[in-house]
Amino acid sequence: MTRPEYDTIIVGAGAAGALLAYELAGAGLKVLLVEKKRLPRYKACGGGLTPRALNLLPFSIQPVIEDATTTARLLVNGRIAFERTYPRPMVHMVMRDRLDALLVQQAIDRGAHLAEGIRFLKAAGPPGRLEIETTAGIFRARCLVGADGVHSRVARHLGLKVGYRTMTAVEAEIVPSGDLLERFRHRFDFDFGVIAQGYGWVFPKRHHLSAGVLTRRPKARTIGRELHRYLQRKGLGAARVTTLKLHPIPYAPRATNTYAGNGGLVVGDATGMVDPITGEGLYYAFRTAQLAQAAIRAFLEHHTALSAYDQALRQTLGREVRYAGLLAAVLYRLPLLSYPLLSRFGDRIGAKHMEVFEGRLDYPALFRYVVGPRGIRHLLTKTGS
Ligand SMILES: Cc1cc2nc3c(=O)[nH]c(=O)nc-3n(C[C@H](O)[C@H](O)[C@H](O)COP(=O)(O)OP(=O)(O)OC[C@H]3O[C@@H](n4cnc5c(N)ncnc54)[C@H](O)[C@@H]3O)c2cc1C
Repeated sequence: MTRPEYDTIIVGAGAAGALLAYELAGAGLKVLLVEKKRLPRYKACGGGLTPRALNLLPFSIQPVIEDATTTARLLVNGRIAFERTYPRPMVHMVMRDRLDALLVQQAIDRGAHLAEGIRFLKAAGPPGRLEIETTAGIFRARCLVGADGVHSRVARHLGLKVGYRTMTAVEAEIVPSGDLLERFRHRFDFDFGVIAQGYGWVFPKRHHLSAGVLTRRPKARTIGRELHRYLQRKGLGAARVTTLKLHPIPYAPRATNTYAGNGGLVVGDATGMVDPITGEGLYYAFRTAQLAQAAIRAFLEHHTALSAYDQALRQTLGREVRYAGLLAAVLYRLPLLSYPLLSRFGDRIGAKHMEVFEGRLDYPALFRYVVGPRGIRHLLTKTGS
């Protein structure tokens, strides 16, 4: 069967792929989104959207907001190290099936095509004239995008070298009994000291809670038990668990990575760029989509090399995750140092970290704050007070 040729085929209708489809379709390009699942599909994710992520969306997602949290809490070994209620919403809570379906609908409304329930298999051909084999036959495209998440198959078939480490996370959707749901409303908790080399979270949704733990330990066979213990500690041991899912989160992308080439590129988790401290990936998914759309348009309209994307990514998010990685290494590898520091100076460090969430501070600046002379002076002032 002869199929129409597309300007760009995007594999994966998650956050990164859907936003990229929206941007490219809006620029008048012929775009096909290929998704192996039928939408809406469950995705293991806390669904916490920081202000810096939300600000990258060019349209409202109000219909899918489950809660707008105003209170941020950071706990170390069960004790509150930072708690602040903001006069504005901090992290907006969503369920990913509904968010991603909304993003895809926005892309379709702008003219993108969706082929769901279809799996990408392989790609062949010269850059600009790629043949893309799927479970529904062969499609042709001038550009191919891997928005297919961690362990991207597209990256492999484009011949891109994208290496990174992965953390293990487990997400539970739980329905607590009585007034427990109310107790967690409008606030989010990050709990350190509940799992080695990681943390636990409870995020409020409209009718339930999303709770989970993540760890950077290479072997995480006991993570299910650790989640169970965490839920008990939070008073949620008796809550009904409706969904429980394990999923890897990529982090620490290698310096030698190539994110674009041979007529295609990768976005979102497929790049390995995720916040190595919190596992926040939606900001990175949206930002990579934004950078990719500019590079793809230049490639298709002016034959500019796609390597421009590679460079843009390194200079922006690459730098961001490198500095965040240094902080994450201290936090998770040296808990005997970092947890007491967090307990003592959590109010200052927590407040600064919230500025990163808001996009008012980046990780290089937070790094300087924590280890630079000004940061140390601030911390010492507190010691003296
Ligand atoms: C437990 C957990 C909690 C998290 N919590 C948060 C949070 O609170 N906030 C936050 O910002 N980030 C969070 N993250 C990270 C966030 O979920 C990811 O960074 C984000 O989903 C990345 O989006 P993406 O579009 O790159 O990939 P994905 O959302 O993974 O989408 C990839 C899509 O590609 C499709 N696909 C894969 N292979 C193929 C194929 N061969 N053919 C066709 N389709 C294919 C998949 O079905 C999927 O729909 C969390 C992650 C986990 C695991």
